[in-house]
Amino acid sequence: MIKIEELMKIYQMGNQEVRALDGVSFDVQENEYIAIMGPSGSGKSTLMNLIGCLDTPTSGIYILNGQDVSKLEDAELAEVRNREIGFVFQTFNLLPRTDCLSNVELPLIYSGVKTAERRQRSARTLERVGLGDRLDHKPNELSGGQRQRVAIARALVNNPSILLADEPTGNLDTKTGEEIMLLFEELYRMGNTILLVTHEDEIADHARRIIRLRDGVIESDVKVESPVLDG
Ligand code: ADP
Ligand code: ADP
Repeated sequence: MIKIEELMKIYQMGNQEVRALDGVSFDVQENEYIAIMGPSGSGKSTLMNLIGCLDTPTSGIYILNGQDVSKLEDAELAEVRNREIGFVFQTFNLLPRTDCLSNVELPLIYSGVKTAERRQRSARTLERVGLGDRLDHKPNELSGGQRQRVAIARALVNNPSILLADEPTGNLDTKTGEEIMLLFEELYRMGNTILLVTHEDEIADHARRIIRLRDGVIESDVKVESPVLDG
């Protein structure tokens, strides 16, 4: 599903180079559940931005579902991103003045899906995350956990091949965070492919594979028996 070879990302800061990623290689198969860990500044966000087609590498290869996306122009990249990737952010990133249904509809608007089908698919996806009774609510009328569920519904509505989550429980209390992790588990069991950035071991324990970055390189990449999933 994903093939990454010798990925490099160098940021030019004046006359200084920052090697955010310095030769990263790994593959991702369908229906993997991967936690990406590493200290601040190790390159996690840079890697997620590249995998999420928000940016292109300085060099190296990134094949997503058979397509080389490492050298695409912005417009093509945006098209691949909308089709293949679902994003979940620490800060939810919902439109504040727009109700849940319309927030979830957004990716379908970009895909050119007609209104009636859009509404139906968005409502069904909100039901899937347990918010069937909150379609008309605005984000500020919801709890943090519910907001993150709306964001997860928005990420899923287009049936993306990959779900990318950047510290998805970072703004939630422990109990609400655990509920969100249960939802990810359910999505994983239903066949979704999930990459999740976290610095918390308790969150990474939900994954089946842990990739650790340090200074822009992979320090370790191990399959794990998930204490949560297998215990
Ligand atoms: P992490 O997500 O693990 O904290 P990042 O990917 O954000 O790490 O950053 C990796 C390195 O790249 C850091 O040294 C950071 O300062 C640098 N960096 C990230 N984004 C930029 C940017 N847009 N311009 C310049 N340097 C950047
Ligand atoms: P951080 O992990 O640094 O707190 P976020 O998780 O909010 O940042 O965002 C990660 C990256 O995705 C950033 O480069 C940001 O510009 C980009 N981004 C944030 N929100 C969106 C969005 N709704 N659509 C596309 N890209 C986004």
